[in-house]
Amino acid sequence: MELRFEQENVRAPAASLPALEPEWALRLRADQRLLTEIAEAVGGPFHVLCPDRFVDNLTAFQTTLAESGVPGQVYFGKKANKSGCWLRACAEADAGVDVASVPELAHALRNGVRGEDIVVTGAAKTEELLWLAARQRCLIAVDAVDELERVIEKAHRTGTIRILLRVLPEHNPDSRFGLAETDLRHCLRRCAEQRQRVRMEGFSFHLNGYAVSPRAALADRLIDECLAARELGLVADSISIGGGFAVNYLDPADWRYFERAHRSSWFHANRVFSHFYPYAQAPVGADMLDEILASPTAAAGERLRTRFLETGTRLLLEPGRALLDGCGFSVFPVQGSKRREDYGIVTVSGLSMSVSEQWKASEYLPDPILWPEGEGQPINACIGGSSCLDYDMLTWRKVPFTRLPKFGDLLIYPNTAGYQMDKNETEFHQLPLPDRIIVSERQGRWHWRIDKLPHIR
Ligand SMILES: *Cc1c(COP(=O)(O)O)cnc(C)c1O
Repeated sequence: MELRFEQENVRAPAASLPALEPEWALRLRADQRLLTEIAEAVGGPFHVLCPDRFVDNLTAFQTTLAESGVPGQVYFGKKANKSGCWLRACAEADAGVDVASVPELAHALRNGVRGEDIVVTGAAKTEELLWLAARQRCLIAVDAVDELERVIEKAHRTGTIRILLRVLPEHNPDSRFGLAETDLRHCLRRCAEQRQRVRMEGFSFHLNGYAVSPRAALADRLIDECLAARELGLVADSISIGGGFAVNYLDPADWRYFERAHRSSWFHANRVFSHFYPYAQAPVGADMLDEILASPTAAAGERLRTRFLETGTRLLLEPGRALLDGCGFSVFPVQGSKRREDYGIVTVSGLSMSVSEQWKASEYLPDPILWPEGEGQPINACIGGSSCLDYDMLTWRKVPFTRLPKFGDLLIYPNTAGYQMDKNETEFHQLPLPDRIIVSERQGRWHWRIDKLPHIR
């Protein structure tokens, strides 16, 4: 890879960045009729969701935790995707869900997730959210001193409320979330005074980035905090290490080549980006949990897993993106295409709001896939959405295609279930939101149905 770059250092060839894809997606696309049938039925862009893959990811986390011997719970970080199918899968696997609003909480309950398996995170929570969470015996991650006082007040009417105290991590000192040191001390005192009202079950954090060691180090330190809190008469038997479990979208060699070689000429309008998501990482998913548990602690020679076990501390985690890895892709019908100098501009039915990374001053890099494939004249092309905005681009990069995509083709954006497909969607231009299609394979046959999001307000 790097050799290729050295040889062509004047004009490095535009990288092709094929996504790492799960088997089910390849099998589904190999079916000659299925995608055409769905595309004809919905008549616009749509997302394809595969709950069976979600179950595999969830099982991997649950198995890693079980094999470590550490008691705990996996909570799905719900904000990463709006569909209810993941919630049903969580309920069936006795996993929990991490929510941050009344509609998210109601959506989880509606799909059979029990209140006691729900953790409520997020900044200053509404009265309604605190009330519903308390009534359903959810675990509330308290984020501020005033919030703790509101919880205590509410408990006069609801009975004891289960809480965690969310800490401001030293590793992310600029985060607006979490309790700083003095506030944390104050909250611990209040929890001890108000033991009838709040059941303080431990501490939580959620770190930016995907590194193992700051998570392990903070969990280690919070075990000390749990031991100290127990001295105050608090339950303090759990630590939530939040989400941020890494995902691999691209082959590491492809990603390294792109990182080194990319230049503005690879993008439409010579667009320059200051940052990209880390599209290839290690360790990822449940392996990252395993590495966290195997990390050394401050006490020489002791692993984090052992400390959890010896102190009788439960490990809670809230993966979002990692549970959705390989769980879905997004399909955009091609509306038309044209040539501009040496590259093509393709316009699809759909908007760049269905590819959230485009709205973080960055770019979703895995190559969109032309379907059906077909032979022709190879060409690089960027992909625009069907709005009147010049900056409504699903892909600024001039992606290498085997032929120019044309009206009637489909463009498939791989691995979009985690945050890409529905985080930023709007009905701009009064266009309907893309349909959501749940697929499952039974005895070698694909079944599909439309997933309707409930209007829970
Ligand atoms: C967003 C969020 C998560 C999920 O994060 P991922 O990066 O998707 O794993 C978990 N916990 C909290 C508190 C969050 O805000």
